[in-house]
Amino acid sequence: MPDADILLTVDKLNKSYGPLAVLKDVSFSLRRGERIALIGPSGSGKSTCLRAINFLEQPTSGDIRIDGQLIGRHANGRRMTDAELAPQRAEIGMVFQHFHLWPHLSVEANVALQPRKVRGLAAERAAELAAGLLAKVHLAHKAGDMPSRLSGGQQQRVAIARALAQQPKLLLFDEPTSALDPELVGEVLNVIKELAGEGRSMLLVTHEIAFAREVADRIIFMDGGRIVEEGPARQVLDHPREARLRQFLSSLSKEEARP
Ligand code: ADP
Ligand code: MG
Repeated sequence: MPDADILLTVDKLNKSYGPLAVLKDVSFSLRRGERIALIGPSGSGKSTCLRAINFLEQPTSGDIRIDGQLIGRHANGRRMTDAELAPQRAEIGMVFQHFHLWPHLSVEANVALQPRKVRGLAAERAAELAAGLLAKVHLAHKAGDMPSRLSGGQQQRVAIARALAQQPKLLLFDEPTSALDPELVGEVLNVIKELAGEGRSMLLVTHEIAFAREVADRIIFMDGGRIVEEGPARQVLDHPREARLRQFLSSLSKEEARP
């Protein structure tokens, strides 16, 4: 059953909040090096799906596996403690809509924090690692600044460097540009494109359809907590089969056309 090419498997994932079923039998897999864009209307369950993948939300049922390893639960079904989960979470880097940088730490210290605390790197080695990652997101010159001095686009690039510092196998992005002023969106998308060019495995929630077309191998469209359609990016975007997807895509293009 385990396929060496498969990095992430989501199998019959369900999540309910009380009586509200938010994810309904969501199943898909992501191959090593693959980039999947998760799209869908607001409230369709995209963020919950991402959060369940690294157990920021505990699934009501279903299995998540990275490299064949069950996330969040032992084979006997017992839920892992946060300490047991920490090394699994380190394999999954997450970038949120809001950057959540530590305001009292320099940019470099924000990036170096996880490698020091979780991987136990010496301060000097962690600082070196952070400097390299800040160069990768084109912010080497901001290493010593406090986050509040940076623009939103720069802060989000620091958040990306921080996610990379975990040396994750998989990157999750949840609408990484939707809190940004329009003129700052491009610099963040460019950094994500560069990471895609390195063959990193990623699952991205985005409303930027042109970006999804360019960067994603595959697109998954969710509505009402279910996967409604999925397939190669161009096929899904240019020849949508499902009426709900056609409706969603035309609502987005109307939004873009608005002055
Ligand atoms: P999306 O990211 O696609 O906009 P979400 O995953 O954020 O959707 O939310 C899906 C649904 O789950 C929404 O109806 C939302 O109100 C509900 N929801 C999300 N988080 C919670 C929570 N902690 N408690 C109750 N309902 C929630
Ligand atoms: Mg969301």
